[in-house]
Amino acid sequence: MKIGVCLKQVPATDSRVVVNATANGIVTNDVKWEINPYDEYALEEGVRLKQSGKGTEVVIFTVGGADCEQRLRDALARGADRVVRIEDPALAGSDALGYARALGAAIKAEDIGLLLCGRQAVDGDNGAVPAMIAEVLGWSQVSWIDKLGVEGASFTANRAAGRGSKEVVTGTLPAVFTCDKGLNEPRMAKLPDIMAARKKAIVVKNLAALGLDAGAVAALVVEDAMSLPPARPAGRKLTGDAATVAHELVRLLREEAKVI
Ligand SMILES: Cc1cc2nc3c(=O)[nH]c(=O)nc-3n(C[C@H](O)[C@H](O)[C@H](O)COP(=O)(O)OP(=O)(O)OC[C@H]3O[C@@H](n4cnc5c(N)ncnc54)[C@H](O)[C@@H]3O)c2cc1C
Repeated sequence: MKIGVCLKQVPATDSRVVVNATANGIVTNDVKWEINPYDEYALEEGVRLKQSGKGTEVVIFTVGGADCEQRLRDALARGADRVVRIEDPALAGSDALGYARALGAAIKAEDIGLLLCGRQAVDGDNGAVPAMIAEVLGWSQVSWIDKLGVEGASFTANRAAGRGSKEVVTGTLPAVFTCDKGLNEPRMAKLPDIMAARKKAIVVKNLAALGLDAGAVAALVVEDAMSLPPARPAGRKLTGDAATVAHELVRLLREEAKVI
């Protein structure tokens, strides 16, 4: 069984985000890019499944430009076998469904049996693409997993069900899983693996190669404008004796912050 991993590059979580002049994206000049942290769990799980004999190959899928190839080489060095990178001008202003259609077509063409994604991309934060891929392919989907067992064509997954509760879900492959923190401890690449990754294949496909046209990925959700949250007001320092400060603090929390 071939294992697929969907991987997206995102701005590093400590990047300073600046909205561009046309308010339709961010200024990327000074951004440091990294693999979406939740996709690192997906990648690690795929590699572990392969190493335990449950998979034959780990194939990475991404929608992105040539600028993400460094992150893709990193993923290859961490144990993935090859990459399908999807790039097409029509995808530049697409939405989650468009991405899912493109990724779904590539995944179908590779005859993948199990797909691992992150639970969300930490930039767009839609948490929508994996469920849409499952719908496009007609597969089951289990979200936010922190444990996965595979036996033949059956799986058992533990998922977060809200407020700290867990669900155990069983089902049949093929299926899409979105990976949460705690699923595993992602490995770092070692030098020989980094060298070996240079020879692994990154195949670039456009929409035509996937049997799709621009209409299939036209955005239904159009981003009008992007803005940063308002700057936080400066903190307030309370002065006086302990009783006065405590009294004023409780009043502010109740009347201004409205948290008690
Ligand atoms: C120039 C530009 C214009 C855009 N215009 C629009 C627009 O008009 N309307 C709109 O709705 N959105 C727009 N987007 C946002 C884009 O559609 C989102 O990136 C996409 O919907 C995915 O959402 P997300 O990043 O929140 O991923 P999520 O749904 O949070 O991702 C969850 C998981 O899905 C997988 N995944 C997500 N994205 C990728 C990817 N690219 N490659 C591989 N795997 C992936 C990963 O495993 C990830 O962990 C635009 C983006 C750009 C760069």
